[in-house]
Amino acid sequence: MSTVRVRFAPSPTGYLHIGGARTALFNYLFARRQQGTFILRIEDTDTVRSTQQSVDEILKAMKWLGLSWDEGPYYQSERFSLYKDKVQQLLREGKAYRCYCTPEELEQKRERAMAEGRKPKYDGTCRECGKASEGTPFVVRFRSPDSGATTFSDLIKGPISVQNDELDDIIIQRSDGTPTYNFVVVVDDVEMGITHVIRGDDHVNNTPRQILMYQALGAPLPAFAHVPMILGADKTRLSKRHGATSVMSYEEMGFLPEALVNYLVRLGWSHGDQEIFSMGELIEKFSLENVGRSAGVFNPEKLLWLNSHYIKSGDPARLATLLQKQLERMGLGVADPEKLPAVVRLFQERDKTLEEMAKNAAFLVRKAPEFDGTAVEKFLTEANRGLLETLIGALEKCEPFTHEAVEKCVEKIMAETGLKMGKVAQPIRVAITGGTVSPSVFEILPLLGREETLERLRNALALLK
Ligand code: GLU
Repeated sequence: MSTVRVRFAPSPTGYLHIGGARTALFNYLFARRQQGTFILRIEDTDTVRSTQQSVDEILKAMKWLGLSWDEGPYYQSERFSLYKDKVQQLLREGKAYRCYCTPEELEQKRERAMAEGRKPKYDGTCRECGKASEGTPFVVRFRSPDSGATTFSDLIKGPISVQNDELDDIIIQRSDGTPTYNFVVVVDDVEMGITHVIRGDDHVNNTPRQILMYQALGAPLPAFAHVPMILGADKTRLSKRHGATSVMSYEEMGFLPEALVNYLVRLGWSHGDQEIFSMGELIEKFSLENVGRSAGVFNPEKLLWLNSHYIKSGDPARLATLLQKQLERMGLGVADPEKLPAVVRLFQERDKTLEEMAKNAAFLVRKAPEFDGTAVEKFLTEANRGLLETLIGALEKCEPFTHEAVEKCVEKIMAETGLKMGKVAQPIRVAITGGTVSPSVFEILPLLGREETLERLRNALALLK
């Protein structure tokens, strides 16, 4: 193990978002590449908005994506006494102070600043106000320097500098005694020995404030890498308007985790013009230097393309397990799962998602096909009665009931009747699948088995118009 220690620090106020997943992935890959430690930290200090359900969903999504962590999950809600101690330390050292200003007073000050055209900022009244009487509510504020600048070199964005007088004396402990985000994140990053903070660039404005707190705590600074946002096609921040943003909804829609991982990593990182990467390859090749500076635009078409690549090249036995889950989600129990790898082989070249595959393969799992009215109208006609009857007779005797034997059987009927393949295959297809599109009938009949095939053909006879 190297000394590299990184963390993914989600706030459990909802599901794992696509953007969060990419941040987690970059941390994971960086840790693995550097043989470092990947820590998972649940930032649940906001006890009102944090839920156990969100925690569970985030952990589930991380596992689904294969982002295994080495330490944690740590819960900030279990670390309040540590934060309290650190607040006390800063108070003792004069680096933080109690502020007794009431919300009304603060609001008045804010309004006055706005009216005078100044940027609203805490005016420092309580820096010198000493102790108030026992029982007066207070918050604790961090004392920011009045002069100088805070500068750091972001590994992705380059040098960033902020004048310290731009920075407010921010609240680090609320009046109810709970600590705030900017403070706990620093305390934890210090305590956990984090060497690289890799996170979304929505936090880049917090970084100078946090750097001042590292300094106040006498701790060395980690390196910072702020990853650009993910945007929708209209170049606004990716949101539900652009489609699903929850990682697990992609599982439900029949995406493979390796496709999503491959998609997310390329959204902001590149290695030449290579598009397809296995996790192993990513671990070998990932570097923060190759993370781009501009925001990535979410492209569902490309994700679909990658998914179809991984479905095409996927192991049928593994995909069968996933397909079964997908079918069950559609309310279709699978009586003989051992058939599913063969089903996958039939569909994996053509279907782009497991959801699509499940829909297309459902006729093999259902008790009876779901008939498409137009297909029935067109192909299950009185004119085809003779054909279906001959076929039933032939298939009853077709031995063994394999692709080859079934094909021979049908060819014999074609020769005897002079009918072309389409004329014979379409009525069979409609009788068996309910519709006009499916893989070759010679493949699906043996998969369905003789009994079921004959039953469907006989049922079709009853439907003839
Ligand atoms: N909990 C923060 C969030 O979910 C992340 C904080 C950080 O990475 O520093 O946005």
